[in-house]
Amino acid sequence: MNSIKKIDIHSHIFLHKKYTPPSSFSSCHTALSPTELIEFYDRINIEKGVLLPSVSPEWMFALSTSEDAKEATELYPDRFLWFCSLDPRGAGNSPDADWSKVIGFYKELGAKGVGELYAQLPFDDPLMDNLFYHCAECDMPVTIHIAPTDTVYGYYGIMDDAGLPRLEKMLKKHEKLKILGHSQLFWAEISDNGQSDVRVDFPTGRIEKEGRLASLMREYPNLYCDVSANSGANAFMRDPDYAARFVEEFSDRILYGTDYGNPYSRFPFEFDAWLERFREDRMISEDNYYKFVRGNAEKLLGL
Ligand SMILES: [Zn+2]
Repeated sequence: MNSIKKIDIHSHIFLHKKYTPPSSFSSCHTALSPTELIEFYDRINIEKGVLLPSVSPEWMFALSTSEDAKEATELYPDRFLWFCSLDPRGAGNSPDADWSKVIGFYKELGAKGVGELYAQLPFDDPLMDNLFYHCAECDMPVTIHIAPTDTVYGYYGIMDDAGLPRLEKMLKKHEKLKILGHSQLFWAEISDNGQSDVRVDFPTGRIEKEGRLASLMREYPNLYCDVSANSGANAFMRDPDYAARFVEEFSDRILYGTDYGNPYSRFPFEFDAWLERFREDRMISEDNYYKFVRGNAEKLLGL
């Protein structure tokens, strides 16, 4: 099949890798330098990726700032785009903070969106609500990582309950805001999980009953899917027939990503091979394949 160069909607780098301490989430991410990310991109036919800064300490103690993402993009303009990122507790820890000034500043510099947001606050916390308001005002899409509400320890991410009611509240309230959903707790909702609490995990097996995700996608045209990391790849690979229907119905709002931050992780390669078979078996049309790996990102980011 003709090879279409992909765009990665979700990646991270650490500009000063030499001075970056290891992540405490050792199974998850280690720091990757810009050149290491480019080497990975060359192996799986990715033309360019969106660098997402990480500025809340819940994930990695070391921060990767918007300024770092901008600088890496200046060094490799053909390979990277960048989002700016903010911690809603910053700028005075106030629900009245004028984030438009900050977001507008980064937008002027070339930022294409905001994220990855994962400060551990409830989705509908006044600080989050205010930040979402300003993202919408500045017409910037946001990438979010979701964490559970039932425990504050051991997780990072914006907190929501099963069924994602708080995300729904924000989608409804900020209808101009485009939200890219990501993480285990987002993707677990591809299936109705009944009473079982698998949402912090990588649930496997066929999707017997559709989850909340499809209904949120139907109801809120401002919701997008970031199909990155083990969580996104697993959600598709666990049931190719359902994935085919999901892609067909929401073909304009699903975006390919990697979230590759650990040189030992296999999932981006497994997902890549799976995706090629998915395409060869015509489970996805050529049009929709193009939209998924490239076209939707071009449109969303105005490339
Ligand atoms: Zn990430």
